Amino acid sequence: MMILTKKMIEIRNILARVGQSSTLTLPSIVVIGSQSSGKSSVLEAIVGHEFLPKGTNMVTRRPIELTLINTPDSQAEYGEFPELGLGKISDFSSIQRTLTELNQAVPDSQCVSDDPIRLSISSPNVPDLSLIDLPGYIQVVGQNQPLELKQRISELCDKYIQTPNVILAISAADVDLANSTALRASRRVDPRGERTIGVVTKMDLVDPIRGASILSDKQYPLRLGYVGVIPRVPAATGLFKKGNTNLTSTITRNENTFFTSHPLEFGPGSDVQVGTTTLRKKLMHVLEQTMSASLQSTSDAIRQELEEATYEFKVQYNDRPLSAESYLAESLDAFKHSFKQFSEEFGRPQMHELLKNELDQRMLDLLAARYWNKPIHDLGVPIAEPNSLVDLPKADPDSLYWRRQLDASTSALTKLGVGRLATTVVAGSIQSHVDALIGQSTFVNHPFARQAITEAASTILNDRFYSTSDQVENCIKPFKFDIDMEEREWTTGRDHVQGVLKRELTACEGAMKNLETTVGGRRKLKEVINFVDKARKGDVVVEGDYRSGAGGFSAELLAKGREAVFLRDRADIIKMRMLAAKSKQCANIKNKYHCPEVFLDAVASKLASTAVLFLNVELLSEFYYNFPRELDLRLGRHLSDDQVEKFAKEDPKIKKHLEVIRRKELLELVLEKMESLRQLEGLEKDRPRGG
Ligand code: GDP
Repeated sequence: MMILTKKMIEIRNILARVGQSSTLTLPSIVVIGSQSSGKSSVLEAIVGHEFLPKGTNMVTRRPIELTLINTPDSQAEYGEFPELGLGKISDFSSIQRTLTELNQAVPDSQCVSDDPIRLSISSPNVPDLSLIDLPGYIQVVGQNQPLELKQRISELCDKYIQTPNVILAISAADVDLANSTALRASRRVDPRGERTIGVVTKMDLVDPIRGASILSDKQYPLRLGYVGVIPRVPAATGLFKKGNTNLTSTITRNENTFFTSHPLEFGPGSDVQVGTTTLRKKLMHVLEQTMSASLQSTSDAIRQELEEATYEFKVQYNDRPLSAESYLAESLDAFKHSFKQFSEEFGRPQMHELLKNELDQRMLDLLAARYWNKPIHDLGVPIAEPNSLVDLPKADPDSLYWRRQLDASTSALTKLGVGRLATTVVAGSIQSHVDALIGQSTFVNHPFARQAITEAASTILNDRFYSTSDQVENCIKPFKFDIDMEEREWTTGRDHVQGVLKRELTACEGAMKNLETTVGGRRKLKEVINFVDKARKGDVVVEGDYRSGAGGFSAELLAKGREAVFLRDRADIIKMRMLAAKSKQCANIKNKYHCPEVFLDAVASKLASTAVLFLNVELLSEFYYNFPRELDLRLGRHLSDDQVEKFAKEDPKIKKHLEVIRRKELLELVLEKMESLRQLEGLEKDRPRGG
């Protein structure tokens, strides 16, 4: 008999985890009574410990779902709050404190909350029972209590006393039963008295004859009857209450003394039931009967829920199994795989290109600053007159000036901090590739993982940053003193720089087009350009500063005009330099002073190649080796189950998928347990009673 209830309580708890539908539940015993009726005393007498919140001011504000678990093989007595994760609490006064805090947390404005506190108590001295303690009914609303409190408590109790629950209606013997709020409430939902157990406390406070007549109440007969109890620990033994000692035997002894001293009223000959022990047995019996009666309907409901979950799993998820761990493992594998692919595609040539592009930009800046920084007509010899672009260039090759210009430019290029620049460019590119990989992966929906991966990458890159830039800087050092250039390098530089100039020209022309549209067309821009040109040559006299609103043009328009003039001149120079680079003279390395673009391009290539050799060893290979390991460290085995679960559920789709599976599994588990329970029950029924 015990085994059945135990198993059913187990099932009840699993069902509570499935949640949702109220049909998916097995009955409980719901305890109701007005304040001071002795409700807490009865519950504590059953448990054998003082553990419920005490005090005058509305101590119970939330339902307490109390599961008692009989543990015949262990002496330990302890409570657990499954939702709080506090572990096993063997000090009952600590359980009492926790319950008090949980109740006090309900704000006064809310009065009571229907969010239950779950508490299980394991002990060899408790029966297997599932009880729900509710806030006590109040007669009069206290001064500091909201008016609707009475109503709210009554509503909350009504919610719980519905079928199939058993009602434990507590009344005190010294109050007329006709006035018992608990019995009145139970009569409303159970008018024929079929699932209510009447408990009458404080039997010691009334005359035994009257007490006995209360218990055999004829006015409101209950099929399950009344039990008279004295769940109070006598004052003389009050000392024991302080410790963790079990109260059951003290209470029972006290009750025995009282009831046996009135054998006529309460003795075996009388047909009344008395004592906490009798009450416990009755509760166990009634709960088991009720549970087994609702077994069929509950298992039908579960089967239906399971069918729905199975259908959803099939239709929405194609029966695809999934667990939080497998999801994380698969996501991580997929990510590592995409990283591996990236690592095969990103190597020396790609780094070289990145770096060369960067150096090309620096080279263009240098050329602009040192060679192209004047209006065309002041440029002097190294680039020919605008009208004679063909016979380029006319600079005196022996002129010390042009030698110094090139030497200074070269030196500026080699000394611009290539080590740091190269490392920054490559590290930045790796990081943004990693970001792009995250963006294409399932991790994109997981802020936690996204951060972990980004940090994994930046940690490695930061770790290697300084030593890599130092190494690279060291190995390009020789170029700062001397550059030894071969014919082949020159030729490559000459080809390459034409492309660079061409792109620069395209950029200039693009910017010019943009300007045209912003000022309202090519013609308009031309007018402004003409004006700016004339003003610069002094052909038009501009009052004051021609920059502000002269010639009928707005200041803004003039600024655009100056920008256009700059772009036009820059484009002219670039066109000229492209011709120069293409010219016969620039085909020969000996004419390098005429062809600074070609020379600097070749130098930039040398710098890039050398830097890439070391970047490859110091940064890229290191990164490729360490990154997957760092990922394992941050997203791998050492994450706790909770973290993995939390991670997986960040994605709403995955969350739903996991929940359907979990629901299905729980329902299957419950059904399986119920099946075996029914077999057990069958066996019980066949067994001859009292054997
Ligand atoms: P609750 O408000 O319904 O939980 O009532 P309590 O269990 O706190 O009991 C109210 C008061 O009645 C307490 O002082 C108890 O000690 C006392 N009490 C409870 N049961 C009995 C009993 O059977 N006899 C006597 N004399 N006092 C009782």
